[in-house]
Amino acid sequence: MIVGIDLGTTHSLVGTYGAQGPVLYPNALGDFLTPSVISIDDDGHIIVGQAARDRLVSHPEASVATFKRWMGTPRETRLGQQNFRPEELSALILRSLVADAEAATGKKITEAVISVPAYFSDAQRKATRAAGQLAGLRVERLINEPTAAALAYGLQEKHDGARFLVFDLGGGTFDVSVLEMFDGVVEVHASAGDNFLGGEDFLDVMEAAFCADEKISVGALSPQEHGQLRRRLELAKRELGANGSTGIEWRLGDRSIAWRIDEERFAKLSESLVQRMRAPLERAMRDARLQPAQLDEIILVGGASRMPLVARLVSRMFGRLPLRHVNPDQAIALGACVAAGLKARDERLDEVILTDVCPYTLGTKVSRRDEGGKEQTGFFAPIIHRNSTVPVSREEVFQPMRDNQTKLTLEIYQGENPMVERNIKLGELDIPLPPHRSMADNAVKLRFTYDINGVLQVEATLMASQQRYELVLEQNPGLLDPADIRARLEALDGIKIHPRSKQENVAMMARAERLYEEYVVARTQLQQWIANFRSVLESQDEHLIREHRRQFGEALDSLEASV
Ligand code: ADP
Ligand code: MG
Repeated sequence: MIVGIDLGTTHSLVGTYGAQGPVLYPNALGDFLTPSVISIDDDGHIIVGQAARDRLVSHPEASVATFKRWMGTPRETRLGQQNFRPEELSALILRSLVADAEAATGKKITEAVISVPAYFSDAQRKATRAAGQLAGLRVERLINEPTAAALAYGLQEKHDGARFLVFDLGGGTFDVSVLEMFDGVVEVHASAGDNFLGGEDFLDVMEAAFCADEKISVGALSPQEHGQLRRRLELAKRELGANGSTGIEWRLGDRSIAWRIDEERFAKLSESLVQRMRAPLERAMRDARLQPAQLDEIILVGGASRMPLVARLVSRMFGRLPLRHVNPDQAIALGACVAAGLKARDERLDEVILTDVCPYTLGTKVSRRDEGGKEQTGFFAPIIHRNSTVPVSREEVFQPMRDNQTKLTLEIYQGENPMVERNIKLGELDIPLPPHRSMADNAVKLRFTYDINGVLQVEATLMASQQRYELVLEQNPGLLDPADIRARLEALDGIKIHPRSKQENVAMMARAERLYEEYVVARTQLQQWIANFRSVLESQDEHLIREHRRQFGEALDSLEASV
């Protein structure tokens, strides 16, 4: 059985393709969405998901979130006594999702399809595969998130030539992709986005409005107070979309604050964020060479696409209403499950072939002579253009700049700037040239092959001798090599993780500790409840624990509602 996984910046989900189509599995707390947050407790046990998110407030130094942004970089996070790379943090999320899938199915899970943003670079894709390995998974395929969203909408069953735009607004990222159906094939034609625009920015807007109205400076709030405010504003933001207006009630020190905002004001305050969404939408349409009228469907995915201002923007720009009937939090995960079914050769999906695009332009560094014959160096010569359908293989012939040159250094870059210094260097390859030859005799054919897994192979052939050189990319400092992965796997296997059966207790305790941090007035009461719950846990009487936990949860609910 292959599982489909949406490994999101904010939330992650897991499921598979069953007899009735894609199905998602709930985590130990009964939720389909597992917050992508990791924390470590005083005993060195790893905590994943909602409990870890609660601990972001009560134990910020032992907790970490949004590490998907660091995938493909060597950045390490210290939690307790250990350092974790982004792949390892992601692997801990994957392990938790796999445990949920195993609990639901009773089967051992070893294979997965994982979704990644269409803009993920080669290094970020490799890091995602490494995370899978570290979680004991064979990553059968990485699927681009928009392609997954399209599969969730069943777009592979649409008529030939149908075109779709996928609009994905998550917690911290915005991605736009244009897809096309051709001969039963879903192709990604173009993708664009903003890596620093998402639901969190809209929360910032709301916070700024609140603070201005109530004359509060965020800097003057303690981290706990700030966490308290953010959580209230987050609930309010969600209610705003559903009800047209919303408010929060909050006790700050001895102040009692009641604040309200309506959709109209929120939309006005969010205008500059809404404007920022236009550029990627326009760029994706331009890259795909499409006019709005040529789109068959527009799909909204990502939790933040629920905001009414998103549907309004899309309707204004494209002159029609977008589709959003598949739960926008779940669409990508459901699509990853469809892809998992496809991979397992489920017959109903047999004829569908998926293709993706290369998210960046790939090329090499060249020199040019100006009109006066003076050599200028540092130019980027693209070989594979952004948004080419993959797998793709392209070649170009280059000559050395001078006769009698004895070495040619090929530098490989990715990016969209005409000058290489503004692009990202991927590696370089030295080609020894035979001496005493003219430039033309030393011509080199350079072939770039970019495959469906985002792997770039560079082949250089000296035309005269047919001598071939292949690029072994210099080890990317952002990536682990196989030996590192084996070593890290052993280290991770040594880490203690709370067993799934205990997670509800861990989550309850984490929530109580967060509330203890937040509600100074209720501290004595909370401490008493925590002490009671501890004693019940020590009894190891599962029936008693379950009953007590339910009551404890209700008490915390009413505390949170009342203060
Ligand atoms: P990611 O892909 O980054 O993991 P998600 O698709 O889970 O993110 O989206 C998370 C974002 O969606 C958060 O910023 C959250 O505030 C926002 N969100 C979720 N539900 C709603 C809602 N009903 N209204 C507005 N925003 C929402
Ligand atoms: Mg997402």
